[in-house]
Amino acid sequence: MKIGIIGSTGMKIDLFTDRSQFETMAVGEKTFRYYHGYADDHEIFMTARNQYNGSVPPHAVDYKLIMKGMKLLQLDAIVGTAVVGSLSLQITPGSYLVLDQFLDFTKKTPHTVYDDGEFAFVDFSEPFCPVIRQSLIQACEAAGVSFLPHGCYVGVDGPRYETNAEVKMFAMLGGDVVGMTNVTEAIFARELGMCYATLCVVSNYAAGIGSAKEISRQDIFDQNIKSQDNTVEILKRFLSVYTGNEPCDCRKKNSDMLKSDITFNAQHPSD
Ligand SMILES: [Zn+2]
Repeated sequence: MKIGIIGSTGMKIDLFTDRSQFETMAVGEKTFRYYHGYADDHEIFMTARNQYNGSVPPHAVDYKLIMKGMKLLQLDAIVGTAVVGSLSLQITPGSYLVLDQFLDFTKKTPHTVYDDGEFAFVDFSEPFCPVIRQSLIQACEAAGVSFLPHGCYVGVDGPRYETNAEVKMFAMLGGDVVGMTNVTEAIFARELGMCYATLCVVSNYAAGIGSAKEISRQDIFDQNIKSQDNTVEILKRFLSVYTGNEPCDCRKKNSDMLKSDITFNAQHPSD
């Protein structure tokens, strides 16, 4: 299988059995960068959402470039990792969630991958691929980490963190965690007819939860460093259990309206 992994800030890339190679691919006028390697009979394409030095903030991530690049690589499955704040005392920093729903509170982040009048009415009743989700759940179990096999992600634009009132509202509405990246990726993946699911790592309690001290970038970064090994272990376990043989209908959900060709130009690395 050809598997894409979208890493969050600080994500290690050394989960390949063969040392991966850095490659680039033109997507229209832009350049898509990724590591290409192999693990457990899978061909792996891994990219860093925030670039490899974490220099791109969430509101400036070029989601169209990343997801169109992944489409051109003709992947069978994509796993996004996302760093999130917890909306509940019961969901502790260092634990994981395999998302099954989201609430979209973004306002500025691109909300569709389509350009120039092209569009599709896409079913989002279940926003994540059930087959990838099931393998991620098995991977979390095998890795022995604390995790929830479901979770509702509240997507916001950032880069600021949330107010106490916003966090209270998100929790009342059924949100479990809050973050700045996942909704857009999930939408673009579904619109492009790709199987996608998300592994969330909890880095902190959101505003007003628990001891209610200030949320700092440094605290979140420190927690991410602590979680790195577990995250890589879960992804390794995922690669060992995911076969892609089970059926899902993610790729059919946009078939009513989507034109057969995605209208952008690209060259593969070998071109
Ligand atoms: Zn699927």
